[in-house]
Amino acid sequence: MILKMKHCAFVALLAVGFAYTEAAKAGPQTKGSLKDSWAALSEIQAGNKRFSEGKSTHAGQDSAIREKLAGGQQPPVIVVSCSDSRVPPEKIFDQGLGQVFTIRLAGHVLNSDAIASIEYALDHLGAKTLVIMGHDSCGAVKAALITLANTSTGSPHLDSLLSKIRPAVSAFKNISSEDKTIEGPVKANVTATVKDLVKRSKIVREFIENDRLLIAQGIYHLGSGLVVLGTDSKDSEVASAEPKKKKTNRHAASENEGREAKHEISDERSGANNKKSRKSTQNDFYKPRD
Ligand SMILES: [Zn+2]
Repeated sequence: MILKMKHCAFVALLAVGFAYTEAAKAGPQTKGSLKDSWAALSEIQAGNKRFSEGKSTHAGQDSAIREKLAGGQQPPVIVVSCSDSRVPPEKIFDQGLGQVFTIRLAGHVLNSDAIASIEYALDHLGAKTLVIMGHDSCGAVKAALITLANTSTGSPHLDSLLSKIRPAVSAFKNISSEDKTIEGPVKANVTATVKDLVKRSKIVREFIENDRLLIAQGIYHLGSGLVVLGTDSKDSEVASAEPKKKKTNRHAASENEGREAKHEISDERSGANNKKSRKSTQNDFYKPRD
């Protein structure tokens, strides 16, 4: 039994070692390029368009792909999203196996394990694009809105989760009960999650600073199936996967759907003081050092 356990541990170490190979060579402090990041973002946006139009290809799920991926993974995109059963990232972005590294907790809250998972995908699997994605009518956000800070839900675990969301949405505590989609607090929660990640993860900051990570904020719309992605690019006309010119902003992106949507991803809690400099009102310009 002990021998078997040792054998299993050895095999596991080999597997982990294999996964650490290519991406680990560079390290977070190596200067990179966002070219692949933008391409990856463009790819999932195209996939979401297919999904929302009922034209998903469901590619990359056959036995040949499975066998190929058994040797290792190099997902280009990380998606941090809510656990909601209506929001499966691989489906709504129409991506196959090995394409999306997902971290899902209710309200896309970040605990240490979630951050570790993101860091692993960046530092060891070579992911280059990160999407933090909320969705309208999020139950976790609603619960944080209606549950008072000094009261218990009856579950210390749920209390803990809601306490992570509540600061981001406190400005909306008087939101109308008519507002079923609660997009304002949902967007505020997404922005807060991005800021929280950048603040807490040195590895994420290093990847950003070295142009090796693009972070997008996304809002998924349950009815239409569309994901509106926000960018920190000051060029609000960004509409392609390639940045026209390297800018100071390194995180996030937007494209056609985002520009056409009527919603703005913004830091509602802080009054969204970066709104005034924008030409359009659809995209958020997230700056982690604000
Ligand atoms: Zn949710």
